[in-house]
Amino acid sequence: MSFKNTSDWLNYDKEHLWHPYTSMTDPLPTYPVDSAHGVRLKLADGRELIDGMSSWWAAIHGYNHPVLNAALKQQMQSVSHVMFGGLTHLPAVTLAEKLIKITAKSLQHVFLADSGSVAVEVAIKMAIQYWYAQGKTQKQKLLTVRNGYHGDTLGGMAVCDPVNGMHAMFKGILPEHFFAPEPNCFDDGSTNISTLEKRLQQYHTEIAAVIIEPLVQGAGGMRFYCPEYLQQLRILCDEYDVLLIFDEIATGFGRTGTLFAYEQADVVPDILCLGKAITGGYLTLAATLTCKKVVRGISADGAGVLMHGPTFMANPLACQVANASIDLLLSSPWEANIKQIEKQLHKELSVCRELSHVKEVRVKGAIGVVELKETVDMKTIQADFVNQGVWIRPFNKLVYIMPAYIIKQEELTALTTSIFKVLSNK
Ligand SMILES: *Cc1c(COP(=O)(O)O)cnc(C)c1O
Repeated sequence: MSFKNTSDWLNYDKEHLWHPYTSMTDPLPTYPVDSAHGVRLKLADGRELIDGMSSWWAAIHGYNHPVLNAALKQQMQSVSHVMFGGLTHLPAVTLAEKLIKITAKSLQHVFLADSGSVAVEVAIKMAIQYWYAQGKTQKQKLLTVRNGYHGDTLGGMAVCDPVNGMHAMFKGILPEHFFAPEPNCFDDGSTNISTLEKRLQQYHTEIAAVIIEPLVQGAGGMRFYCPEYLQQLRILCDEYDVLLIFDEIATGFGRTGTLFAYEQADVVPDILCLGKAITGGYLTLAATLTCKKVVRGISADGAGVLMHGPTFMANPLACQVANASIDLLLSSPWEANIKQIEKQLHKELSVCRELSHVKEVRVKGAIGVVELKETVDMKTIQADFVNQGVWIRPFNKLVYIMPAYIIKQEELTALTTSIFKVLSNK
């Protein structure tokens, strides 16, 4: 090793490595992780942090889980990777069977992609190819809502919120899609879907699909909305001959209290994107599921191949750790755990409402959000949380946590207490 000590390689990191959404010339501090176990991250200086982020929704069973470790080790001894063109393997087929079993009945076909963004790209291509094969070649646009997040590749970015996603910077190279306001639900059970309906009325001949994150808009603002909106959306999509894509990359695998968020609306999409928690946070993997209708549609013009096939698609290590993670989830009392987390978050985060710079506190499933009136100062607040012994990474006006489902009551209390403490001193 060419580094003398921790600060030596930290400096190298600072000079040479890009971190997510950061500047290379004015980087934010990064904290060196030595190891991780359960819900604890161990830093190089020996400090332990209780993790509130699950590494962005992914590590739902905590880190360094013996069952997931064993699955990987075992798979490694037979085959770590093999091309999926012309070859197949049991880890992928087993995973497809599991995904088909736990999602809606109509979703019967699976594309195993290598990241969430790619799963979204694949979903978009499926929708466009579906209409293309039927001669409706002008149906190439997407319709989505403001404040969405669907990934960082150009196709996914194009359906992210135009302001948060900095569409202006990429004008001319990003495809331009249609946007409706972010979903809002009112006390009388009504919603603001009428603007979206107007877009459909006007442009449905150009629209291949609506893409939306069901019930929870994640990285685009940590907003929650009601199931009725999705029910109305499903009806409208059918009425206007537009496919419906649910992006459950963040919400999937229990996070909102049901295995998938769409279950709470009792609405089934034509295409479903999964990712993040699919491998329990071990390896990058994602999936795009779809129904017979879309599969037949894509192949309607004879040739009909789906135009996608990444080098590392269906990686056996990733598939096998996903299989182990899904089994682990389903054999655990996940529903009760998430209910308990939800109850505790409601109870313990509500004190933050007393702070004058807090705009709103909201909780859904194992997600707790404190929205501030002003953008946080990342340089100071990150250090404040670390000094409190927790790993919480705010963005913009949002301080939020989505812990591993196995977090203990007192560990969760440490997270909520630190949020109140850190925000009290601001
Ligand atoms: C994270 C996320 C993505 C992108 O997934 P990556 O694995 O980061 O490419 C897409 N959609 C949603 C809803 C996400 O939360």
